Amino acid sequence: MFAVPLIFGLVIGSFLNVVIARLPEGRSIWRPRSSCPGCGTQIAWYDNIPLLSFMILRGRCRACSKPIGLRYPLVEAATGALFALAFLVFGPTPNFLVAAAFLAALVAITGIDLAHQIIPDVITLPGILAGVVANLATSRVSWLESVVGIVVCGGIFLVIILASRGGMGGGDMKFGAMLGAFLGWKLGLLALMLGVLAGGAVALGLLILGRKGRKEAIPFGPFLALGGATTMLWGEMILSWYLERFPL
Ligand SMILES: [Zn+2]
Repeated sequence: MFAVPLIFGLVIGSFLNVVIARLPEGRSIWRPRSSCPGCGTQIAWYDNIPLLSFMILRGRCRACSKPIGLRYPLVEAATGALFALAFLVFGPTPNFLVAAAFLAALVAITGIDLAHQIIPDVITLPGILAGVVANLATSRVSWLESVVGIVVCGGIFLVIILASRGGMGGGDMKFGAMLGAFLGWKLGLLALMLGVLAGGAVALGLLILGRKGRKEAIPFGPFLALGGATTMLWGEMILSWYLERFPL
């Protein structure tokens, strides 16, 4: 049963690798076909099968034997796993498609932010609109909750940007607004909170291990994406668990 969403996710993950590699460079994501960055040889379809090709080729280009980045199988595996989890949570419903599109955008944003330290507007701005439209279509979250989510979750970042004068980027703000649009303001705030907790824990860990200095920036996008994905899948559950123990 989970084979279909898993394979669907692996294929979309393969496409997301192209998005992550080309979008920040302004190249078309539709053509030409993928080629090896090392030697320029076009990659044959049988060498472009998600996960399997990487394993068969032992992580090296068939033509020049240069190593293929670990990012490629990781993005494919992550997208496959997320789609399977979304199917587990939502079943064969329109909500699954909304969750899958949202999760795919999160994977692309994570990959691009890690590689280039930017969160591209071409994903987040249409993402804000897509969140409202998706909620209008499925009424998983009401349109009002969705619009308030944009204002609240984007607004928090605006306040931080104004207060810190450059500590946080506009890309994070638009990403926050997109999370609010998809999740609504309640779950959107939960996503931001989980992102801050995860980011803070990792930053503290790196600081203790001496891997990063106090002033070095750690991209926040991947942590926001982690919070967003967790909340899309299990947010209602986490929120009711939390409210049971800590009633407002
Ligand atoms: Zn090559």
